[in-house]
Amino acid sequence: MLNESIINVKGVGEKLQESLQAMNIITVEDLLFNFPNRYDNYEVKPLSELIHGEKVTIEGIVNGEPLLTFYGRKKSRLMVTLQVEQVAVKAVMFNRAFAKKQLKHGDIVTVTGKWDGHRLQITVSNYKKGRAKTDQPIQPIYSLKGDVTNRQITKVVQAAIIQYMDSIEEIIPEKYLREYKLPARAQAIKHMHFPSNFQSLKHAKRRFIYEEFLLFQLRMQWLRKRTKEATVGNSQKYNRKKIDSFVTSLPFSLTKAQMNSLTEILNDMESPNRMNRLLQGDVGSGKTAVAVISLYASITCNKQGALMVPTEILAEQHYQSLSELLDGFATVVLLTGSIKGKKRKEVLSKINNHEVDIVVGTHALIQDEVVFSELGLVIVDEQHRFGVNQRRALRDKGLHPDVLFMTATPIPRTLAISAFGDMDVSIIDEMPKGRKKVETYWVKDNMLDRVLKFIKKEVNHGYQAYVICPLIEESDKMDIQNAIDLYHQLEAYYEPNIRVGLMHGRLHIDEKEQVMKQFADNEVQVLVSTTVVEVGVNVPNATIMVIYDAERFGLSQLHQLRGRVGRGDAQSYCILVADPKGEVGKERMKIMTETNDGFELSEQDLHLRGPGDFFGKKQSGLPDFKVGDVVHDYRALETARKDAQYLIESNSLTKDPSFNKLKEMLIQTIKEHDGILD
Ligand code: ADP
Ligand code: MG
Repeated sequence: MLNESIINVKGVGEKLQESLQAMNIITVEDLLFNFPNRYDNYEVKPLSELIHGEKVTIEGIVNGEPLLTFYGRKKSRLMVTLQVEQVAVKAVMFNRAFAKKQLKHGDIVTVTGKWDGHRLQITVSNYKKGRAKTDQPIQPIYSLKGDVTNRQITKVVQAAIIQYMDSIEEIIPEKYLREYKLPARAQAIKHMHFPSNFQSLKHAKRRFIYEEFLLFQLRMQWLRKRTKEATVGNSQKYNRKKIDSFVTSLPFSLTKAQMNSLTEILNDMESPNRMNRLLQGDVGSGKTAVAVISLYASITCNKQGALMVPTEILAEQHYQSLSELLDGFATVVLLTGSIKGKKRKEVLSKINNHEVDIVVGTHALIQDEVVFSELGLVIVDEQHRFGVNQRRALRDKGLHPDVLFMTATPIPRTLAISAFGDMDVSIIDEMPKGRKKVETYWVKDNMLDRVLKFIKKEVNHGYQAYVICPLIEESDKMDIQNAIDLYHQLEAYYEPNIRVGLMHGRLHIDEKEQVMKQFADNEVQVLVSTTVVEVGVNVPNATIMVIYDAERFGLSQLHQLRGRVGRGDAQSYCILVADPKGEVGKERMKIMTETNDGFELSEQDLHLRGPGDFFGKKQSGLPDFKVGDVVHDYRALETARKDAQYLIESNSLTKDPSFNKLKEMLIQTIKEHDGILD
């Protein structure tokens, strides 16, 4: 059985077992699925196929006496001339004086090392007398921890494959194996570790990419179906007339994209199934407006609504704007962690007694003490900042509320549909008319003085500026110190006519509020801040966004920050201060100056950074795939989604016994990830 301890594998003693355990290898299955990190290739290639600078293996005949020279202290260099396909190739070996005696004129040798194609020379890292062994030219290289060696692990994997080959059961339905020409599971495991050539390795990888994507998508589809079925009867019969008159009361008319998204949301709310939808749209595309209308729709059928946001500042702002927009239509309260004591009791009781329609708040909203009277709709802003568990806690609150997630990190449409397989997706891909493009410039550190003068000029014209302070390696504390230093510098620089403010995450909520208010009222003209202003903050009179160390931010985050300006009628500017070292960094700065389109940026970001970084690891709900890469192997992800959808919807997993093994695996992964099964 694959789930038995590795101690049963030939060659594994207690000591090795312990070392492997430190690498999270406990069962035989763990061992077999601990795939190599990369492979060394000892395949002999013809000279014409060798690539300059790469590690290669060649076979040749020693020609003449090897030449040994000593230099420095105890250092030597052995030069052997090899005849390879009628060509004289120089093999250089360092500090292997002993080899001189082993390599005689006329001997056949196989050498591996770095190839210099210009000088026809190989710097040898490995050599052996005789012909290259042809049975296993591609050797696995594992990522190691502790005192385990690559050789040890290679040996026990080999033993395990021989011992357990027959216990490896197929899980992918035969039909799909044939359709996609995928190797069987046991065969593929063998080839992942010991491929006979790169072609067989490729097919083995293809198989496991499909396997893990299929399991992931089955899980998503299963969850989706479960959400829908479990909540039949959850229909919100809103009042269309009231909604229309609210929409008419807004100071603008909706864009077509807003209208389409709203229709999708309202349809979900009206349907008996619970809504689980993601609303995507660039910064300023009008998501909040759509959210407010949706919340109001819930109110028209006597339910309550909740809007949950990631920071207190944002909660304050949303509370303000919702109160204004809904004035005369619905009542709104604010609930955050810093509302305490008597005030808090009051708010809680108002919620519980249904004396308020809408609650705006932070994570505080999902705490147990908050008891809604009749929760119809929950909107979660910036969903990627909430963990999966928080989402679940929220969903389980109240009476099966409809849930709408909003994000301003536009994920390419196609990817979103696959990656968030258990959600429906609405996209606002159009900006309200008349928005001016934010002009973006990239400058080097040595131009800072000009930047500061430019800010002065804009301030003298009545406008305001954000200055995002330098980032230090993920350290919140140091970033704050940076912000404080920069604040003092700028304060000294701009004295006495321009006032500078300071904002960072460690300020007390009252201080934050005060600073934001001063900035909003133009009592402070230059706001120095850490990235806490990233989301949502709205001061239309601010026209300049200066970002220090811009190369350290991802494109999507830069775009978010840039979205803080360009909110009024005046021309706005974003100035990226950066001295990127690498090409990728330079490329990123260039892309920022060239495009204002969040979707395009996110696509570029995804390709430059890879999905792990892009989705912010655990936050996204995406698992760490072992073999597959959601960007690179996107087509396989799509195929797996299609197949999973069919398998779940047709009930094949339960009806067809040939899917038993797959069903078992699915149940196991659901238990692992979601902890639920009923
Ligand atoms: P988001 O939440 O997507 O960042 P908001 O809903 O906050 O965007 O909208 C940004 C700004 O644009 C707000 O000041 C809002 O009042 C305004 N706005 C929203 N929709 C429209 C529209 N259709 N036409 C004009 N202005 C709009
Ligand atoms: Mg519904």
